Amino acid sequence: IRNITSEKEVQKLKELDKIKTNFIANISHELRTPLAAIKAYVETMLNMPMSQEEIHEFLDVVYSQSIRLEELLSDLLDFSQLESHTMKILKESVNICEIIEHSIETLENMAKEKDVTVEYNCSNLEIKCDRKRIEQVIVNLLSNAIKFSDQAKEKRFVRIDVLDEGEIVKIIVEDNGIGIPESAFDKIFERFYRVDNELTYAVPGTGLGLAIVKEIVELHEGNILVESEVGKYTKFIVTLPKN
Ligand code: ADP
Repeated sequence: IRNITSEKEVQKLKELDKIKTNFIANISHELRTPLAAIKAYVETMLNMPMSQEEIHEFLDVVYSQSIRLEELLSDLLDFSQLESHTMKILKESVNICEIIEHSIETLENMAKEKDVTVEYNCSNLEIKCDRKRIEQVIVNLLSNAIKFSDQAKEKRFVRIDVLDEGEIVKIIVEDNGIGIPESAFDKIFERFYRVDNELTYAVPGTGLGLAIVKEIVELHEGNILVESEVGKYTKFIVTLPKN
């Protein structure tokens, strides 16, 4: 007689262990990249005579790389809260359009770098939610939409639509980027998962973003869905109760 249950459990533990090892390698690499850039730029500034303009240019890079580091660390912290189910939601009345405008501002430079036009459509709408966490959701979806834009296309865009549907509000983030294969629709919301292709690996990431997004949306008693076609478009639909 073979104990199938324990064999399965061992298999599962082995898989988990592999995922964690991969994750540590991945996150170390992710942390090292901005840190190396900061170090190199500061070293150059210390050792080379530079014009005011050049200094400004270099500090711009140092600043944006520090933000990247901050984002990674905050993802890691959120991830540990996700694992222990200790993330807290603090609801207040907020104008959802303000959150969207602020998120777009945050990612303005990234959109410029990738030459992506960001449009949005929102008429003033108050909902009860955790301002910071919902902004995190929008920033995450928007930054993915920009990150995974299709550089082979002549025009790249992201559009955010907010729909007032009585008791609920729908936030739709659509891009005309590289798309996601249908077989990965569920998996992308799992921790660490990244679609396995060259286009994804060309873009930095930890595979934690959407897992955190889903947790935040569900803590608000909402839900998130994806629609996509490879090479054509991706659409994330977030539904939140207004109260
Ligand atoms: P990360 O962005 O750090 O890789 P996420 O959890 O945010 O992790 O996303 C998981 C995966 O889902 C990404 O690696 C990518 O393969 C896919 N993905 C997410 N958003 C998009 C998008 N807008 N277009 C194409 N692929 C996407």
